[in-house]
Amino acid sequence: AVKRTPFIAGNWKMNLDHLQAIAFVQKLAWSLADAKHDYADAEVAVFPPFTDLRSVQTLVTADSLPIGYGAQDLSKHDSGAYTGEISGAFLKQLDCGYVIIGHSERRTLHAESDEDVNAKVIAAHRHGLVPVLCVGETAEDLEAHGASAVPVAQLRRALEGVDASKGLVVAYEPVWAIGSGQAATPAQAEQVAAALRAVLAELAGDEVAQATRILYGGSVKAANIAAFLREPNVDGALVGGASLDIDEFSAIVRFKK
Ligand code: PEP
Repeated sequence: AVKRTPFIAGNWKMNLDHLQAIAFVQKLAWSLADAKHDYADAEVAVFPPFTDLRSVQTLVTADSLPIGYGAQDLSKHDSGAYTGEISGAFLKQLDCGYVIIGHSERRTLHAESDEDVNAKVIAAHRHGLVPVLCVGETAEDLEAHGASAVPVAQLRRALEGVDASKGLVVAYEPVWAIGSGQAATPAQAEQVAAALRAVLAELAGDEVAQATRILYGGSVKAANIAAFLREPNVDGALVGGASLDIDEFSAIVRFKK
């Protein structure tokens, strides 16, 4: 079997200004340095608000910190009359490695369609950014269609015309589990992650499917991370609320299987 490096991603949402971001990343770096022996095989990244990215870049670069970072969204356009939008070109200029695309809060609160998500994945690749593509079903979808149908359909539509070998992380985030304190069970996460990997294999071939990391997200905390990571198709976590607490997030990053 292919070994995929576990990926722990912290989505700060609209929390922590640029000063708080500097303090947080510094503390996270200390915590990782302290624990080097037992977290060493996980990759860690934070997803701060746009206005923090320059500060995070400066700190990470100056101190060569082993912490990745990216934005929570990007525009599908590269430049022009799009007031309030942020181009992937700007993110690349700040050395972002990743960009979250299609988070359920964007889909719901900003009416992002599968078509928008697809255009954003293509825009991310155009600028050499790795999309962290979020898919997931609502409680109603779960009741009506089971867990896998909606995430699988979202993945297919997001990847239309996309070359997944350019880099992709998929985050399975059941909407009912986000911020609810009610995480999916590891078995549920595994079932959907396996279905998503099968779609990747069909669309992009087995090699790309085996190399692509599939994360679980939804009420992940230090107490449940290890159980998710024990599942063969779950390669890490996208963490919301618990990524804002330095002790909790450090403990998640240092998970032991
Ligand atoms: C998220 O919004 O990506 C998320 C997983 O949130 P939480 O961890 O707070 O459920």
